[in-house]
Amino acid sequence: MTTTAASSKRTPAEPAVIQVENPSTGAVIQEIPNLTEAQVAELVVRARAAQPAWAALGFDGRARYLRRMQKWFIDNTERITHQIHDENGKSIDEATIEVMYGVLASSFWAKNAGKYLADEKVSSRSPFVLGRKLLIRYEPLGVVGVIGPWNNPLLNNFGDVIPALAAGNSVILKPSEVTPLTSLLMAEMCLAVGLPADVFAVATGAAGTGAALVEQVDGLMFTGSTRTGKKIAGRCGERLIPVSLELGGKDPVIVLADADLERAANVTLFSAMHNTGQTCTSSERVYVEAPVYDEFVALMTSRFESLRVGESTGFGTSDAGSLTFPPQLDIVSRHVDEAVQEGATAVTGGRVKPGPGRFFEPTLLTGVTQDMACMREETFGPTLPIMKVADADEAVRLANDSAYGLQAAVWTKDTTKGQEIARKLQAGTVTINDALANYFALELPMGGWKDSGLGARHGKDGIRKFVNRQSVLVTRFGQKNELHGMPFKAKNFGVLTKLISTLYGHPRNTKA
Ligand code: NAD
Repeated sequence: MTTTAASSKRTPAEPAVIQVENPSTGAVIQEIPNLTEAQVAELVVRARAAQPAWAALGFDGRARYLRRMQKWFIDNTERITHQIHDENGKSIDEATIEVMYGVLASSFWAKNAGKYLADEKVSSRSPFVLGRKLLIRYEPLGVVGVIGPWNNPLLNNFGDVIPALAAGNSVILKPSEVTPLTSLLMAEMCLAVGLPADVFAVATGAAGTGAALVEQVDGLMFTGSTRTGKKIAGRCGERLIPVSLELGGKDPVIVLADADLERAANVTLFSAMHNTGQTCTSSERVYVEAPVYDEFVALMTSRFESLRVGESTGFGTSDAGSLTFPPQLDIVSRHVDEAVQEGATAVTGGRVKPGPGRFFEPTLLTGVTQDMACMREETFGPTLPIMKVADADEAVRLANDSAYGLQAAVWTKDTTKGQEIARKLQAGTVTINDALANYFALELPMGGWKDSGLGARHGKDGIRKFVNRQSVLVTRFGQKNELHGMPFKAKNFGVLTKLISTLYGHPRNTKA
């Protein structure tokens, strides 16, 4: 990584270095450079120069490097886990899940990038292209920028770099200034596996560094808040470069009267409290059918009360780690305080935990109403508001009454009914009798509707966003072109419309 003191447009308000804290203790653990616009531009020039040779390796050639990364993830699990824990504050157990994702993603894209981006033969019935060969093929964008958040320092940062690399791009990663150290460790991994120089680089820094990257790259993958995502989308729109946005959420859970309540409670606890609630797809509000409301609240209460809050010192030593980003404590406190002032009850917790670090007591809220901030705004913390509803229709209406549309969960033993409800929900992903597990099925696209984003990660869409598409039409030398020019002759109009109707269907029954 280059950090020369090239000409800088950094304002005096932006520091030259950023301090990274351990949120469990509040101690500063490292300082990182806050790269200037010129330094970012220099990284992009190098990445651009390195990209053609990387692309020329082909899918198999690039897959060999991804396989080495897969092995490095396995061999260095403990080290990566501790790095994630130290800068993010999540438990050791949850940090390990991120490393597992690294193993999964590097092996998945090594195996599938070539399949998703292979040339596709297209057949057409159109009389205008009779006998021609039609193809779709893909070319890497060039230099891709990945800008990531602090809640998953590996999963939502280097995790998105892997498919961009597999597609043949050079990639520059701008991790969150709050948790940049895991990304620097990924740069070390790339060196260790012999990745060609400058194919991957980390641009550490704050918002200005990210904004500079947006100005330079050929395509952008952004994960973060809706507010920043909209700004970045605007600039990418002006530059006319492709952008994929994975943004915030306010994921609803619907519990119907026929649900397996024990399992619903266990999984909802996990999905609400995973990473201390700092997960874009964490369960943020629950709607429970009236007949089972009291029982479900009782099951959730006992589970919330049993959680151990505190710094994780090894596997199984803590259920809820610290909040990562200092302002999160204020947001979580405000949502809880306002809800209680407006008539809700904090059945458990409700306060910042005294002592060092940024810990908040796991808080179950009842007596909430749909207009409260805790039901409308992304909380991103260890809280869960639960609301009683009359029936599934009311639950669906309230679930959809949100600016967000990332993910939703439905609990019912009748999976046909569950799928019917899924069709009515405005969410990029719906899990029926489950939560979060979809993220680990990389064949399944994951992306948000409404304010939750544009585009998707995973599946074929998760790599095709990193390429330019080219359509190819081949007319062989000497091939007869009977139809060439024919559509423009008035006398052929009738013949052609009949032919089109024969090939694609007749315009009968056009009455409404
Ligand atoms: P954020 O928007 O504050 O910052 C995200 C990244 O953008 C950081 O690296 C930041 O430095 C950079 N940035 C900020 N301003 C910028 C600008 N003007 N130009 C370019 N870059 C800029 O988000 P955050 O607080 O780090 O992350 C939390 C948010 O991320 C939550 O809303 C969460 O739901 C969302 N998230 C979404 C997903 C998903 O897959 N949908 C996954 C994880 C997190």
